[in-house]
Amino acid sequence: MPEPWTAAGPAVLAEAIDAWRTWTLAGSNDGLEVRLFPIAGTGKAWPVREPVLGRCARRRSHAVPGLDCTCGIHATHTIDILRRTRDPSVLGTVALWGRVAEHEHGWRAEFGYPQRVALICQLCFWQRGGSSSSCDIVVRHRGGRMVPLCTPHLDLCRRYGYPVRRVLEASRVERAVLGVYAVDVLRLSVPSASGAGIGDHAVV
Ligand SMILES: [Zn+2]
Ligand SMILES: [Zn+2]
Repeated sequence: MPEPWTAAGPAVLAEAIDAWRTWTLAGSNDGLEVRLFPIAGTGKAWPVREPVLGRCARRRSHAVPGLDCTCGIHATHTIDILRRTRDPSVLGTVALWGRVAEHEHGWRAEFGYPQRVALICQLCFWQRGGSSSSCDIVVRHRGGRMVPLCTPHLDLCRRYGYPVRRVLEASRVERAVLGVYAVDVLRLSVPSASGAGIGDHAVV
């Protein structure tokens, strides 16, 4: 594990650490050209097969992550904290390296890249956590935004008038994400209600 954050500022890590993240997803009409996007704000797509660089949104002239700033690639210690995120479509682990600042619930880093990812039904994820969030289909909205759902929640959405314009097979879209980013699939077999970290989950 890295040295925790010190008064002197973020630690510079020689080895990457693994942490948890969620992303939103967007892609082409056929579901094959897909990109991961940050949950918050109007951030750009995560680059493919090259590290994402933490940038300071406030355009401050400090090294990222800044000590008294919110910049850097964000990732959390546990899955459960991510259940509060808005509209998560993809759950996964991310490698963080370079300058890394540790906080109560996670880290902010200079560099990052996804490691293992899975599409999740966000309604299942909010209700029950990562281990029971598998999805069956992906709703693709106009403009490319993709929302994975399980069949029961797709039915629920249809009943309540949620726009379902185009439906793609989730396994196909997930394979596209894995292929585009050259990463492995995330499989969770232990309930995440314990709030346990990566080491306590069966990630295979
Ligand atoms: Zn900053
Ligand atoms: Zn669901």
